[in-house]
Amino acid sequence: MNLKAINVAEFDACQKCTLCESFCPVLRVETAFPGPKLAGANSARLGVMKDGHTGLKGIDYCSDCRTCNVVCPSGIKPATLIMRQRWQMKEKSRPTLRDLVLSRPDLIGALASRWPAAVNFSLKQKLIKKATARFASIAPARNLPAYARVNFRRWYATNRYRTGIKTGRVVYFHGCYTNYNRPETGRDLVLLLEGNGIKVEVPKQNCCGLPKSLNGNMRSSRDLAAANLQHLLPYVEEGVPIIFTCPSCASMIKYYYPEVYRLPGAEKVAAASFDACEYILAVMPGLSSNGSLGPVLLKIAYHTPCHLRSQGIGTPALELLAAIPGLDIHALGNNCCGMSGTYGYKAEKYGLSLKIGAPLFREIKDYRPDMVATDCGSCMMQIEERTDYPVIHPVELVYRAWKVAGERQTTG
Ligand code: SF4
Ligand code: SF4
Ligand code: SF4
Repeated sequence: MNLKAINVAEFDACQKCTLCESFCPVLRVETAFPGPKLAGANSARLGVMKDGHTGLKGIDYCSDCRTCNVVCPSGIKPATLIMRQRWQMKEKSRPTLRDLVLSRPDLIGALASRWPAAVNFSLKQKLIKKATARFASIAPARNLPAYARVNFRRWYATNRYRTGIKTGRVVYFHGCYTNYNRPETGRDLVLLLEGNGIKVEVPKQNCCGLPKSLNGNMRSSRDLAAANLQHLLPYVEEGVPIIFTCPSCASMIKYYYPEVYRLPGAEKVAAASFDACEYILAVMPGLSSNGSLGPVLLKIAYHTPCHLRSQGIGTPALELLAAIPGLDIHALGNNCCGMSGTYGYKAEKYGLSLKIGAPLFREIKDYRPDMVATDCGSCMMQIEERTDYPVIHPVELVYRAWKVAGERQTTG
């Protein structure tokens, strides 16, 4: 794999303004982390890399939140460079048992959803938690995710609106979390779109490969990426857009497939990929003004996931939620939740993950909402666990409001 070909000239533009350092949520709490300026732009620029990496100790603390990519005024992408270096460093070592387990949410999900009740019961048992801590270095205090009784793909295969009115067609990339842990997000998206005449296709798809790439199994992550492109490209060539409810899957496919894996067809697929709320706003512009949304009387705090912010598309969910009558919506500050996918599960990073998320948890508790809304599954788990507030995906709230309006029309 030709990841050694890092274009050092890309990083010549670094003006050492340290903005990336000021915004890095890990550097704020972990002094052993060299940070995005040193491990990213400066290492490349000053040519201190050997075999494609700096060998800097502590580089693995980077949570890949990609905030540094967004804030750099010179357009440098320190997170992307750090990611490439980590891969170079890990290429020669074998992944640990823990990293192998964490990098397969698709496989674990498929197995767990065969016996969800038994698995969910076991995951709460102290003995099982102790065993996962001892043999797999998973933080014993961390709640493990619960598995749905009926996964999203099974639901999709049997329960859909078929309105007959087709005003559009879209492909949905659901990702592992929606499929195995929170199928209601995918279900509500399909019901909302198909109820408005947009046909939702759910083709064969693999995990996006992000957990593998973050846990040192990049070759296999790249294979998943290549297979996903094969599944998605035929639709894109027919002009069908791809939508995501998980910002991490979206940013993996939009940025890492073309920028890091540099796979054929990746640019085309990236250009046709959209966040689900961004898509809803674009294809249903009248949603807020034509009485399509009924009242939902809740006080909601909205958290923007880092992987959504790093896409540079603003906050489409917030715009949609603001259109729901009666919804009291408050945008939380730009604080990372600290979970970062599999990062917060690791015994050695658990404490750090809580320290990173502490300002966000405080802000939520001070605001005292009825619920928190956020787009990312791992943010959902971390916020629910650390604040005890229920967490919901924005698409689920929009569907709820649309259903209320529909019920009012039929009874009125
Ligand atoms: S990706 Fe996030 S954690 Fe990593 S260096 Fe950039 S800002 Fe820091
Ligand atoms: S924000 Fe960009 S220009 Fe400023 S120090 Fe970081 S990499 Fe260099
Ligand atoms: S980013 Fe999406 S597809 Fe990738 S592991 Fe997470 S949920 Fe699965």
